[in-house]
Amino acid sequence: MTLMTHSVEIRDLDLHFGELQVLHQLNLDIEQGEFLVLLGSSGCGKSTLLNCIAGLLDISDGQIFIQGQNVTWAEPSERGIGMVFQSYALYPQMTVEGNLSFGLKNARLPKPEIAKRVARAAEVLQIEPLLKRKPAALSGGQRQRVAIGRALVRDVDVFLFDEPLSNLDAKLRADLRVELKRLHQQLANTMIYVTHDQVEAMTLADRIAIMKGGRIMQLSSPDEIYNRPQNLYVAGFIGSPA
Ligand code: ADP
Ligand code: MG
Repeated sequence: MTLMTHSVEIRDLDLHFGELQVLHQLNLDIEQGEFLVLLGSSGCGKSTLLNCIAGLLDISDGQIFIQGQNVTWAEPSERGIGMVFQSYALYPQMTVEGNLSFGLKNARLPKPEIAKRVARAAEVLQIEPLLKRKPAALSGGQRQRVAIGRALVRDVDVFLFDEPLSNLDAKLRADLRVELKRLHQQLANTMIYVTHDQVEAMTLADRIAIMKGGRIMQLSSPDEIYNRPQNLYVAGFIGSPA
């Protein structure tokens, strides 16, 4: 019997790009259904860590477990994860429905199952009226909803988001923040969300991991990060009361 305590476990993770060491002996346990935000300024290694979890980069040392499975050397498609990037690469020649169902058709899922998953994703993301449109006829916010939908239909345990809202204007960002929060409450999946935006982190996260130079400086609830920063770096970064 496997005892499944954590959704994602990262053990002593090192990652080098050539001579440059970007992640340093990183350890992180993420709970089932947790909304974990990786927060830090540009270049601190957030995307690199997310890409290691996704299996898009070969790590130099350490181990990664997802839902109790050692996936350190598993292909991205074998990891039970769905990923949403900053720029939404939709297939321009396909409708929204086509974009949502493409991966499922490739995976040869039965048609009724595909229809069910697409309908559910369209419902939770409120893009049902857009299903027959092509990406060119969508706004930036609508396109990003479709991009999130493409991850949702995969029905995975863990969703990875890399600054999914950073190309949108402030109003849309605020709207989609609310939707992401609602989505998480509805789906109860584990979410790992990368951002450099403190407001986004504070409003979305169950816990925030503050990163600097490929290390985690503090891992706590938003309230604790703000009111009980564990070091000067976190206090300065968050702008905690003195
Ligand atoms: P963040 O997402 O926090 O902005 P990244 O993970 O993208 O940071 O980058 C962390 C560090 O790794 C930076 O110094 C960046 O220049 C470097 N880096 C990222 N990707 C590569 C790559 N493919 N090759 C070499 N260096 C890289
Ligand atoms: Mg990044």
